[in-house]
Amino acid sequence: MNLIILGAPGSGKGTQAQALAEKLKLRHVSTGELLREAVAKKTEIGKQVESVITKGDLVSDELVMQLIEPAVTEFKPDDPWEGWILDGFPRNGKQADALEDLLSSKRVTVEGVIVLEVDPEVVVDRLAKRGRDDDTPETVRNRLEVYEAETRPILDLYEQRYDVYYVDGSQSIGDVTEEILGLLT
Ligand code: AMP
Repeated sequence: MNLIILGAPGSGKGTQAQALAEKLKLRHVSTGELLREAVAKKTEIGKQVESVITKGDLVSDELVMQLIEPAVTEFKPDDPWEGWILDGFPRNGKQADALEDLLSSKRVTVEGVIVLEVDPEVVVDRLAKRGRDDDTPETVRNRLEVYEAETRPILDLYEQRYDVYYVDGSQSIGDVTEEILGLLT
């Protein structure tokens, strides 16, 4: 099964993607995590993206596609996964189009798109508690704006193309996971 999970920063998409990946034997592909690893390891890519992430802007589409392509198309026979869940990707229309092209060229399908919905006040409260480098109030505001302006519009396309499931992300972690699993089966 291949899934995409979308939601504003602080909606819990990383947590839910991790839980669903374990339950459904999916590879958890988080572009944010991959980028943060690159920053921590001080790779060339890491050096290029550090200030962009700290501001809460989006890193270049080309760079993100380089991370995504092998993760969604390359599988080894002994991999434990039976598909993938994309967390934090796509983030804008260009990335959504690039993903469509990539998947159709490999004849890969997406079985569902999960959208976690939360009120902005809940988001701000959750992120203040998490305290990542890009969780400062100013950066959070920018990340919420980027989500509304760039990411949410992808849903118009996805509603025409895929099964899109909207879930209330302000419930407890376990309840959100249960609801999603119920919707998928
Ligand atoms: P996340 O962990 O998904 O909240 O991502 C943290 C940060 O990494 C974002 O605010 C962006 O700066 C960057 N990032 C993650 N995924 C993407 C993506 N698909 N496209 C561009 N930038 C991304």
